[in-house]
Amino acid sequence: APYQVVSLRELLKSTLVMMSGKLEGLTIVKDFDPDLPQIPAYAAELNQVWTNIIDNAVQAMHGSGTLTLRTRRDGQYAVVEIGDTGPGIPAEIRTRIFEPFFTTKPIGEGTGLGLDISWRIVVKKHHGDLRVHSEPGNTVFTIVLPINPEAE
Ligand code: ADP
Ligand code: MG
Repeated sequence: APYQVVSLRELLKSTLVMMSGKLEGLTIVKDFDPDLPQIPAYAAELNQVWTNIIDNAVQAMHGSGTLTLRTRRDGQYAVVEIGDTGPGIPAEIRTRIFEPFFTTKPIGEGTGLGLDISWRIVVKKHHGDLRVHSEPGNTVFTIVLPINPEAE
């Protein structure tokens, strides 16, 4: 997939369109910073990251809740936040969710690879960061991407 200058907002919107069938019944909140610059990135890979994280959010909410997509700038970084109102991630597994093949889902429903792949795309391929904050009713995955990767 090509490395190109992308609008994170447009990438997120196209992922929502592709996933619209799964989002039925959920409230979708979009809070996009209009001043966030476009950034050089691997568009298809970032769409895979949003898809993996939104898939988990949708599964956690069992058909009702709020999915929040937010973009904002933090200095030399573009930040994407994907939040859900599901039950949250128990503290005792929070350090393990980015490990390959770690899953709490029944066999056939989860491979345990979504967050491992996402971590590799964000951290290794884009020199960014991927973090999670979670409490019951509020889980937020934060994706941090350098605005000027050349300057890293
Ligand atoms: P999979 O979805 O195949 O289980 P992932 O790597 O995508 O694998 O996620 C690993 C685990 O992290 C999940 O099985 C689940 O326990 C937990 N998890 C990830 N996202 C969420 C979320 N939004 N809410 C609750 N648990 C989550
Ligand atoms: Mg998953």
